[in-house]
Amino acid sequence: MKAVVIREHGGIDTLRLEDIPTPRPGGGQMLVRVRAVALNNLDIWARSGPPGGRPVYPWGRPRLPLITGGDVAGVVEAVGSGVPGLAAGDRVVVNPILSCGQCASCLAGEQSMCPDYRIYGEHIPGGMAEYTVVPAANVLRIPESVSFEQAAAAPVCFTTAWRGLMTVARLAAGEDLLIVGASGGVGTAAVQIGRLAGARVLALVRGAGKAAKATALGAVAIDRSTSPQFSVRVREITGAGVHVAIDPVGAATWPETIRSLRPGGRMAICGASGGERPDIDIREIYQRHRKIFGAPMGSVGDFLTVMGLVFTRALVPVLHAVLPLAEIREAHRIFEAREHFGKIVLVP
Ligand SMILES: [Zn+2]
Repeated sequence: MKAVVIREHGGIDTLRLEDIPTPRPGGGQMLVRVRAVALNNLDIWARSGPPGGRPVYPWGRPRLPLITGGDVAGVVEAVGSGVPGLAAGDRVVVNPILSCGQCASCLAGEQSMCPDYRIYGEHIPGGMAEYTVVPAANVLRIPESVSFEQAAAAPVCFTTAWRGLMTVARLAAGEDLLIVGASGGVGTAAVQIGRLAGARVLALVRGAGKAAKATALGAVAIDRSTSPQFSVRVREITGAGVHVAIDPVGAATWPETIRSLRPGGRMAICGASGGERPDIDIREIYQRHRKIFGAPMGSVGDFLTVMGLVFTRALVPVLHAVLPLAEIREAHRIFEAREHFGKIVLVP
């Protein structure tokens, strides 16, 4: 089969489509023919290595060679022994959450707190390929009304955004919500979830083009290129500041995100793509009763809840581009240049 195998860290010229043996499913596994796979930060980091030597991986660097691709939708091709309920030809999406299934956290439904928590496409081979082997427990049937591209665009980012906004920060109708990095995968998911929850959504983006796209999604856009101290603009719009913020960027935005929170405001953090050591005065947190919640990815319950809303099209993933898998270099280029608004999906 054709697959993008990352064998070394480097630039986009290290990416190439290789011919490798098609994997075979073992007991409790299934072989899925990949019909769509979406790009995430993890795919970029696995190729580039840590930017500037910074440790961006929460759980250590992926071991190479690796086939990345944690966001996959496709068709069941073959089922290993001991897998009930699914058959060849079924349309499915892959749940990228891997955990032991037996510890206290797993039994409580908090798989992302499992000591053995891992992510498909980061710790085991993912779906940047024509076929992928997945644990049978990690596939979910998708309805005919949802395309493979839409389904593949959802798992990682919608689960993360749902976890941060709804499960953890408990966003309520009528509240003001600030989304930092609103043009990215988590950001565009968060805009939709915020709107669905009945919040007023303030979307921080860079540039007039992305601001127009955020506005079209129903958000109040704030352009970071003209409002670098964006908390000032947030206060002009909201008065006291927002009730909830979600920040997947980190050091580059943290001080302003925290200043955007009203007293008692809640901030969900789920990434550090813009650096992991913010320069902040902690009095700005405790003196104003502000709360910060760590929310990396999410649980199986978060995944199932949010995918159910994607399946009924209450939430519709924003696709920036759908490209053939052979154009993997162009996909990485767009992502690294931050040209995208929404997800970049590859089709083998
Ligand atoms: Zn566990």
